[in-house]
Amino acid sequence: MKALVCENGKIEIVERPFPKIQKDTDAIIKVTLSSICTSDLHIIRGCVPAAKNGVVLGHEFVGEVAETGSSVQNFKKGDRVTVNCETFCGECFFCKRGFINNCVEGGWELGCKIDGCQAEYVRVPLADNGLTKLPDNVSFENALFVGDILSSGYWGAELCEIKKGDTIAVIGAGPVGLCAMQCAKLLGADKVIAIDIHEKRLKNTKNLGFADFVMTSENCEEKVKEITKYGADAVIEAAGGENTFELSYKIARPNAIVAIVAMYKKNQILPLPEMYGKNLIFKTGGVDAVHCKELVNLISEGRISTDFLITHKFAFNDIKRAYEFFENKQGGCLKVAIEY
Ligand SMILES: [Zn+2]
Ligand SMILES: [Zn+2]
Repeated sequence: MKALVCENGKIEIVERPFPKIQKDTDAIIKVTLSSICTSDLHIIRGCVPAAKNGVVLGHEFVGEVAETGSSVQNFKKGDRVTVNCETFCGECFFCKRGFINNCVEGGWELGCKIDGCQAEYVRVPLADNGLTKLPDNVSFENALFVGDILSSGYWGAELCEIKKGDTIAVIGAGPVGLCAMQCAKLLGADKVIAIDIHEKRLKNTKNLGFADFVMTSENCEEKVKEITKYGADAVIEAAGGENTFELSYKIARPNAIVAIVAMYKKNQILPLPEMYGKNLIFKTGGVDAVHCKELVNLISEGRISTDFLITHKFAFNDIKRAYEFFENKQGGCLKVAIEY
């Protein structure tokens, strides 16, 4: 089969053997649609120490169950599924508390430590936990982002412990930020403020109706205070830019929660003496993608949608060009869908 492999910082489509069931809890999935995530770019650039050289990339996808190990209970050949970006056992100290990102047997494995989904077929370990069935009225396209981007946005909003009447500021109007805005409203936010450096993305956010206010990061502290008096009740940092961490705690009101969903290229500085007395609560990433079932139900009920994220489609054979489009945000690219 064909697979996209990352070797020594270079990506190439190569011929690989079909994946086989290795443990009786595995399933083999025939990939029908996949996407490219910024984390894939981080692996190519060598920013993910855990990534295995020569790994098949990709962890955001949907597909059909092709084969199941003997102890997989909940899935059978032919089931249409969306797949969690994290592998988890469901039984360890962390899983029992919902912190599956730190599962002692898993975490982010697919397309990092083990072969991922940018291939015709992929082996998914601990399949009973990692797969979610799609109802008839949810298409593969509708569910493509459930296991990663949408889960990340939902998680960011959940970390904010939103209360009625809250105003939530979201930094970054890219894919995760846009999902976080939708989820913040769903979890009861009264107002959402979207912040980005790209006017185009802000315009897009406004058109989608996900934010009540949109603004660039210039004089942002003052602009947020004009709306909220003391600052945002909670902030979701989904940008990971040069100054966005600094911005996240500056626009938060005293005693606010600052949820860091973004990934940074460099260490960030927390000036504790300067902010003494502001009494902020920081929560840091990566995502515990534990709500895939609920998210699929919300899509099925029409209460949430990520369809707007697919701005470009490519055939798998053209995936290298898709990477260029995604990385350079060519043609206003938000996310690509790779068709097989
Ligand atoms: Zn990802
Ligand atoms: Zn676990």
